[in-house]
Amino acid sequence: MVKVNENFLKLPGGYLFPEIGRRTKAFAAQNPPMPLIRMGIGDVTLPLAPVVVEAMHKATEEMGHKETFRGYCEETCGAYDFIRFAIRDNYKANGVDIADDEIFVSDGAKSDCGNIGDIFSVDNVVAVCDPVYPVYVDTNAMAGRAGDYDGEKWTNLVYLPCTAENGFFPSLPEKRIPDLIYICSPNNPTGTAATVEQLKVWVDYANEHGSIILYDSAYEAFISEPGIPHSIYEVPGAKTCAIEFRSFSKTAGFTGNRCAYTVIPKALERGGASLNALWNRRQGTKFNGVPYVIQRAAEATFSPEGQAQIKESIAYYLNNAKVIREGLQAAGLTVYGGINAPYIWCRTPDDMPSWDFFDLLLHKACVVTTPGAGFGPSGEGYIRLTAFGDADATKEAVERITTILH
Ligand SMILES: *Cc1c(COP(=O)(O)O)cnc(C)c1O
Repeated sequence: MVKVNENFLKLPGGYLFPEIGRRTKAFAAQNPPMPLIRMGIGDVTLPLAPVVVEAMHKATEEMGHKETFRGYCEETCGAYDFIRFAIRDNYKANGVDIADDEIFVSDGAKSDCGNIGDIFSVDNVVAVCDPVYPVYVDTNAMAGRAGDYDGEKWTNLVYLPCTAENGFFPSLPEKRIPDLIYICSPNNPTGTAATVEQLKVWVDYANEHGSIILYDSAYEAFISEPGIPHSIYEVPGAKTCAIEFRSFSKTAGFTGNRCAYTVIPKALERGGASLNALWNRRQGTKFNGVPYVIQRAAEATFSPEGQAQIKESIAYYLNNAKVIREGLQAAGLTVYGGINAPYIWCRTPDDMPSWDFFDLLLHKACVVTTPGAGFGPSGEGYIRLTAFGDADATKEAVERITTILH
């Protein structure tokens, strides 16, 4: 008789987005007075850049001819040299030296953030920020590193509160020393970005204790302020303690195209083993690479034309973020984020519980948001709004919210 992985049975069962979907659907069925504006789910809405589409057409055509057809990619873990070299050169252009064999291309930062646990012992102590991108928590729960869910928290995780008081960046833990530390900057959900000084504290801590920082910089392209690092490797000492995850999803609208990359420096060793070699072995065994057409599409984003085109989309989203941020502030709400990220983290009025504020905005303004409590206990008292929508709809949503609050 087969036994299932019992860790899966401990998962509270995709609570957040299904519950938002359920409440939204129930309300939509009651003939709402206005069309709904969805500012909940973090997916892009603008089409792919013209150079990307062109590269995909060209690569598709190649696949249709015997002379240029490609099957399995024999190069490093299914990634062609052209894409790894383009990624390396892009790091270099931004002042970071990474060798091409330190770069692993995949179908998503979500998969990589989840799969990376394969190379680490189940005995490691894991620290996550609170609030947090749920993937880090759930994948560790599946692996058996999280303990049991007590209705609010996992018993074996170290939670690092990120609150207005600490500028939404975690302080060092006081009790248990974590082995694996997830940091996401610019942050989903709080929309804030860490400085070199803030990251340096963690890099020093990780080097001192032999911990590893798992650094998710899926939103680095949204950094608009000078002085904010785009890569953890801008912080001295990071190459001996950090793995970096990046993605074309938010950077270039690839959420439906699927392409990302993970950097594991050669200098990164634990217990006498090279983490780069372990990941290489893991990917070589369980993964056969991203489609050729998609690798060409991703490569195109690095051309000068590609960079200009993807920056236009990012500027569009960042302008939405500004409209939300300034509009809600003018309406008397306290807001954070939205400057170096496509998310606005908004304090609920009068300490209203986040699900109540979610319901109020849904029923009175017909605007769908995400209640902060869904991202962890410290998310209570906040809602998240995304800037990935249509500019006119975003403006209208802010006007509607302003009206109901006055
Ligand atoms: C969207 C997102 C990603 C990107 O995931 P992909 O699988 O590459 O689409 C990674 N991390 C965070 C925090 C995100 O919000």
